[in-house]
Amino acid sequence: MNCFECGAPAVGVCRFCGRAVCKNHVQTMPYIVALYQGRDGVTKAVAVSDVLYCGFCRPQPRPVPMPELV
Ligand SMILES: [Zn+2]
Ligand SMILES: [Zn+2]
Repeated sequence: MNCFECGAPAVGVCRFCGRAVCKNHVQTMPYIVALYQGRDGVTKAVAVSDVLYCGFCRPQPRPVPMPELV
């Protein structure tokens, strides 16, 4: 598999969108595994830091409502 951006051999795949990226274009960002509401009513996130990110897609910071899928 080759880099989405430059075509060089890819070192990994973006956790968010699945694009392949080479070592020059790979980035990292925290990945939120789950959101939950604590007893104090504050929304908390279970996150993994430094997952592979392509730098092109735009992960949304919050879950997106999808009422049309219900
Ligand atoms: Zn590249
Ligand atoms: Zn991506």
